[in-house]
Amino acid sequence: MNYLILDLEWNNTFGRKVTLNEIIEIGAVLLGPDLAEIGRFSTLVKPQIGRKLNARTKRLTHITNEEIRGGLSFHEALKRLESFIGGEEAAMLSWGDGDLRVLIENLNCFFHTERIPFLQYYLDLQRYYHLICGRSMSQQIALSGAAAELGIDPDRYALHRALDDSLLSADCFRAVFDRARVDQMVQKCDEQFYRRFLFKPYIIKDLSNPAVDPGKMVCLCDRCGGSAQRTGPWKFFNGAFHAPFFCRTCRRKLNFSIRFKQYFDRVEVKTRTTDGDGETSHANANKSAETDVRKNQVISAKSHES
Ligand SMILES: [Zn+2]
Repeated sequence: MNYLILDLEWNNTFGRKVTLNEIIEIGAVLLGPDLAEIGRFSTLVKPQIGRKLNARTKRLTHITNEEIRGGLSFHEALKRLESFIGGEEAAMLSWGDGDLRVLIENLNCFFHTERIPFLQYYLDLQRYYHLICGRSMSQQIALSGAAAELGIDPDRYALHRALDDSLLSADCFRAVFDRARVDQMVQKCDEQFYRRFLFKPYIIKDLSNPAVDPGKMVCLCDRCGGSAQRTGPWKFFNGAFHAPFFCRTCRRKLNFSIRFKQYFDRVEVKTRTTDGDGETSHANANKSAETDVRKNQVISAKSHES
């Protein structure tokens, strides 16, 4: 299998009806199965929606409006990229999945499709790097940071230009390449891949949603561990269902909230229990103490009688 390491530059723009991360440059390097370079691909893309680059894009890429005017059309650039990849089986690699998302966003905008014609296999190089280094994805490392960790001098490359970023990515890939792990992590880009990739996680707002598990909507008292009783209706706000509860054992009010978030193949559940009302729960404690005193009096009275 060959490896196509792809990098895109884009310009965030908006037209009359769309906002788009419009692709302005495509860079790629193709490696053979032995990671030797087969070829390089680089082209500027002439924007169709945002004719002028915004300040951030100009600052980041140093690409000028004059330069992109001489670029290929998006359609032509894709055709050339496809023939550059050739007929061999190839896995596309990118640092993070942002490039893939932006490519799909552009295909969707200009050709009304969410399928990348030349994509057969995909590997998120950033994710792969994190796994190889045993690092959590919650602290994502930038390409330049990874290069620094690997002792690759980023000054040899012009950062934030598509070809240079893909060459730098290729060097990072070579440095952490492990064929077995790569084979394991490369994903075949079938319908299931796209469904998963394009799935947008959302918070469930409707109690009747089948993903809402009533067995999870149980409030356990954070003091005694016993299950508290619900004393009011469920209400949805701030991204979660909320209801008041009461622990009979501790005689205290509790506020319980639960959030269901639907991911492609799982539902994430987060709960939170807080003190219902400091004052009331204090008053309840006093009341229960009084009750205990009265009970004792009754018992002593009884024992006196007998
Ligand atoms: Zn309790």
